[in-house]
Amino acid sequence: MGVEGILRSAEPANQSSQNQGLRPMNDSTNPTLILGGGFTELFTALHLRHQRCSLPTVLIDKEERFIFKPLLYEFLSSEMEANQVCPRYEELLHNSGITFVQDSIQTIDLHQQKVCLTSGLHYTYSHLVLALGSTTGYFSVEGTQENSLPFRTGRDAIALTKHLRDCLQLASQAEDPQQRCTLLTVAVIGAGSSGVELAATLADLLPDWYTKLRGNSQEIRVVLLNRGKEILQGDMNSRLRETALEKRTVPVDLLMESEVTAVQANFVEFKRHTQPEVLPAATIVWTASTATHPLIKALPVAEEYRDKHGRLQVTPMLQLPDFPEVFAGGDCAVDMENPLPATAQVAYQQGAIIARNLKAISEGRSLSPAHIHLRGTLLKLGLAESAAEIFDRFEVKGKLGHLIRVATYLELLPTPVHDFKATTEWLTDEVFHLIKPIKSVQSFH
Ligand SMILES: Cc1cc2nc3c(=O)[nH]c(=O)nc-3n(C[C@H](O)[C@H](O)[C@H](O)COP(=O)(O)OP(=O)(O)OC[C@H]3O[C@@H](n4cnc5c(N)ncnc54)[C@H](O)[C@@H]3O)c2cc1C
Repeated sequence: MGVEGILRSAEPANQSSQNQGLRPMNDSTNPTLILGGGFTELFTALHLRHQRCSLPTVLIDKEERFIFKPLLYEFLSSEMEANQVCPRYEELLHNSGITFVQDSIQTIDLHQQKVCLTSGLHYTYSHLVLALGSTTGYFSVEGTQENSLPFRTGRDAIALTKHLRDCLQLASQAEDPQQRCTLLTVAVIGAGSSGVELAATLADLLPDWYTKLRGNSQEIRVVLLNRGKEILQGDMNSRLRETALEKRTVPVDLLMESEVTAVQANFVEFKRHTQPEVLPAATIVWTASTATHPLIKALPVAEEYRDKHGRLQVTPMLQLPDFPEVFAGGDCAVDMENPLPATAQVAYQQGAIIARNLKAISEGRSLSPAHIHLRGTLLKLGLAESAAEIFDRFEVKGKLGHLIRVATYLELLPTPVHDFKATTEWLTDEVFHLIKPIKSVQSFH
């Protein structure tokens, strides 16, 4: 069914009431709606197609392109091309039978099974897949939202690139040393994996860009501010703490135990060991926190079915307990019996499981619980360098770690549906082939 047909069938809105249980899909003219086109949802769509599931399905995202977030640093540094990191949904879903609609979701009515879009269109659905990800959280710190740059989306990466290039250009012409110092200082707030990877990338990238403008690259300053005592605290990558920021082109300055109290245009105010301090910086990037998506917060889901952050609790089958026709996954959902980190490797595996369960419903079969496998972590440590920790047993760093990271992600990158390979294994045989010969040269411990 094309968009037109689906839209016609969507009016008037379906009046079915809450919690009727699952209805066989082929009895319904309403489509399965996939809200958001991130890791969970895109992989749900691709797996539905891969299983030759013929359900009418609509995927809605406000953006034109899927963003492969773990590779945003490569996009920023131009190590990879936009088409690889941010492929168009139209291309990914070409000939799939899945309708892509680029629009912003405005409201979700779980009782009426109806979704309204900013354009004024609305859909009623038979089944819903909810995975709108998360948003940047600002802890109500004064000026943060207005004066800092986020780093979560392709648009953020483009905006940061432009801002940094402008600063370097101005610095290359600035005669006043204080002004030049501010223009050449980048403050990254938050030392979780995003902050650490970004700081490491910039500490290699900016000296290179500035040298090309005939500037003195040693004047570049990248500062990582963190409230806690250590970088990567409570992070999957915490074991890489000691070496994560080693050997960059310019060193990353660590300001630990620094609580940011305000962000103003061109400076950060923070308290360090209770002493107020100020860091002048023309570029301030906020990676310190995430928040639950406002549309997820607004859903009529009882507090008892949410975690303390407001994320949705799901059953092992990834359904909402009170609305079994709704599946949820990725950063906006949590299975309280088996909580997992909010990561892409969890989200895309959930997408495969949701697709399998949607197909099972359509065929009247029983649903299967999610079994997610955490297969290790990959951390970018600067240009052309990474660390790969595989099944928490092996650690590979440097150029070799970079090869493994890129090979892994290239294998995982979604391809157009006509040559879609079942990418349910995060670390593939290909990666293991890569690392086998290295074992003998003691790159593991
Ligand atoms: C910079 C960065 C680096 C990361 N690196 C890694 C890594 O190395 N490894 C790892 O495992 N994980 C990594 N992650 C985390 C990982 O990307 C997320 O856990 C994963 O993307 C979550 O998937 P999701 O399906 O929940 O949502 P997302 O992938 O965030 O997708 C949500 C989608 O919903 C859409 N959307 C939101 N609101 C609306 C609306 N109102 N209307 C229409 N569409 C909407 C968005 O456009 C987006 O496409 C990283 C995240 C970031 C930000």
